[in-house]
Amino acid sequence: RKFIFVTGGVMSGLGKGITAASTGRLLANAGFDVTAVKIDPYLNVDAGTMNPYQHGEVYVLKDGAEVDLDLGNYERFLDIDMTAEHNVTTGKVYREVIDRERAGDYLGRTVQIIPHVTDDIKRRIREVADGHDVCIIEVGGTVGDIEGMQYLEALRQFAHEEDDADILHTHVTLVPYSKNGEQKTKPTQHSVKELRSIGLQPDILVGRCEDHLAEKTREKIALFCDVPTEAVFSNPDVPDIYRVPLVVEDEGLDRYVMDELDLTDEALPREDR
Ligand code: ADP
Repeated sequence: RKFIFVTGGVMSGLGKGITAASTGRLLANAGFDVTAVKIDPYLNVDAGTMNPYQHGEVYVLKDGAEVDLDLGNYERFLDIDMTAEHNVTTGKVYREVIDRERAGDYLGRTVQIIPHVTDDIKRRIREVADGHDVCIIEVGGTVGDIEGMQYLEALRQFAHEEDDADILHTHVTLVPYSKNGEQKTKPTQHSVKELRSIGLQPDILVGRCEDHLAEKTREKIALFCDVPTEAVFSNPDVPDIYRVPLVVEDEGLDRYVMDELDLTDEALPREDR
């Protein structure tokens, strides 16, 4: 059971979900059984009551769960059916914790974000991951959002509780061009600094940019963010999101992820691919 956490920095709508789903697709291509959890750090229990003008169309899963459109990306990229359990919202987590508190399950203890809320978040992730080779967990929103803090804290705890070889953290950031045509790494540096301030060090950085990241840009990100240059990948603009898995495969993202997670080719008989 391997866990790949995907967080995003700088701004939303960057392509974090597509990067996460593409990573999953490539691991599925290599023969692994991949599932995914999408975390939506809003207090709505689900997307069913949300205004489609603000949030886009509601996506309905096979069990009737009303969720964010992103879950549709995972279903299509990974070719899996998802259910309500694959979408963790703050509304669901808090409702569960408060219901348990009312039922006396906490035996009189003070109920707190840490450990009670974070425990519930980790439980939900592990329940979805059970029985699969790899679980991709996308933390919605952007690093630094107050809503996302409890999830990042849960991720920090997760990293302690699981073996190093079973957990990977991919951070997706924006690499913009300056007016004079230079790829700028400062937003990425700030985003990683923010992660570090809460005890998280990403293993892989994916730069969303109009183009591929230049070698110099990758080296600079590696140096400032304390990852090897080989751990810095590009996710350039493509005309069609279904090309993203191919682009990141060319970059070698799948090989790197498999090496880091000790997901060896031998793990799976070739005929099953
Ligand atoms: P996030 O999870 O960061 O909010 P998404 O993965 O949902 O972002 O992507 C946001 C938008 O960007 C989507 O409309 C998606 O189609 C588009 N997108 C993502 N990756 C790329 C890419 N490499 N090239 C072009 N468009 C992309």
